[in-house]
Amino acid sequence: MFKKVTEDAILPTRGSEYSACVDVFKICSKCNKKKSIDNFPKQKKGKYGVASACLICKRKDFLLWKRTKNGLISTIYNHQKSHSKDKNRPVPSYTKEEFKKWILSNPMFDILYSKWVKSGFKMSEIPSVDRIDDSKGYSFDNIQLMTFKDNNKKAHKMMRDGTLINSHTPVIQYDKDMNFIAEFSSQKEAEEKTGINRKNISKACNCNGRKAGGFYWKIGQLTLLEHKSYLFGIESEDERDGGFGSTGK
Ligand SMILES: [Zn+2]
Repeated sequence: MFKKVTEDAILPTRGSEYSACVDVFKICSKCNKKKSIDNFPKQKKGKYGVASACLICKRKDFLLWKRTKNGLISTIYNHQKSHSKDKNRPVPSYTKEEFKKWILSNPMFDILYSKWVKSGFKMSEIPSVDRIDDSKGYSFDNIQLMTFKDNNKKAHKMMRDGTLINSHTPVIQYDKDMNFIAEFSSQKEAEEKTGINRKNISKACNCNGRKAGGFYWKIGQLTLLEHKSYLFGIESEDERDGGFGSTGK
């Protein structure tokens, strides 16, 4: 016969020498296990000064969160920051929010992220951001997306060939100061009207800071708000930020 193991059976029993220390137990709000409060992360406002979920559950949640887009982006950005400090390099020239916009507006991110999910979150498939010129720090004109390992060659070939974005993707053209110039319903149309090679436009769309024909290019269409601000000069930072770049919905 099996001996029934109760929750109490796993609790530490302490001898009389510990009588001065009273163990406090708490039920974890996630796994419902009764554990001594040392097994809970500290939290000032929580009951007994600890959080409601135990350390193991917190850790599990954290690992799951790291697999979400937001979690991954945050992890990549924090790594860039700490890596720069470790190497005595300047910290990234962009904020986490700016980085998030950059990465979410990059179609490569979606492709790499889906692959990573499909792989069952294999380490080798994690989307990562590398510096193009190793001697320079993290800035939008010096970073590119790739997988941790194998897909990097393939993805780069796609970038080089300009096949990452199909020719029907709408694009927006900006001058060197990021002033709106025109929008096109497809890269093909952009090529026809500007005479700038479609593949170069595609490459410029994929790498922030990269130009084609002397212009910056972004994938997408202007929102109504952006149209208004560009046409009538109504421009607030918030409105501009809410437009292109935030395709992560
Ligand atoms: Zn728990």
